[in-house]
Amino acid sequence: MPEFKAVLFDLDNTLVDFYKLKGKCIGAAANAMVRAGLKKKPMQVIKELWDLYYEIGWEHQNVFQEYFQRHYGEVDWRIVAKGVYAYRRVKYEHSRSYPSTKHVIRKLRRKGIRIAIVTDADRVNAWMRLVEIGLADEFEFVVSAPCDTGKKKTDPAPFEFALKKLGLPASEVLFVGDSVSKDVAGAKAAGMKAAVALYGRTVKPVAGADYEFAELKEVLDVVL
Ligand SMILES: [Mg+2]
Repeated sequence: MPEFKAVLFDLDNTLVDFYKLKGKCIGAAANAMVRAGLKKKPMQVIKELWDLYYEIGWEHQNVFQEYFQRHYGEVDWRIVAKGVYAYRRVKYEHSRSYPSTKHVIRKLRRKGIRIAIVTDADRVNAWMRLVEIGLADEFEFVVSAPCDTGKKKTDPAPFEFALKKLGLPASEVLFVGDSVSKDVAGAKAAGMKAAVALYGRTVKPVAGADYEFAELKEVLDVVL
């Protein structure tokens, strides 16, 4: 088994239970907007918001505004503000890592394994998520693919950027992420071994990963 000196993690759906949280936030926002006067059933608004996120991206910051533009041709700012407020309240109250994340991260550190993040999220959003789940002090650094390299994670550039920051050869670094096309393919293109986080995936099966983790704690068996 290779000797790993560092582990690089994807953030969303690998350390943070992103889809579950997003679902709660969207539900709260849809209900708040219907209560505020949006003349639709909450379930329909929820479906249309998910569709919009899939289309314009998870990091989009003006989704409710965009929703009104598309469905009504103009924005009702009072309703949008109530939706955003409900969304944020739930987000701050319910941001969670997966149950074993903290234990795994702290154990890796105690054993002297270096850990950092490589994400497609913008730098500020990535750091905010780490603060929200109480892990902002655990990681050596965060590489935001778009902010640091101008690329997304199918490209090896963000992975190579992280290797350079670690000052380690690719053979000594394991990458853990939930996306086969982005995390596994990108990390392997940069020469690293890659593990796929099966628990964070909505689409199965997977192919191409060196390791498959049904739970995050399995990383300890590989690295320690
Ligand atoms: Mg992910």
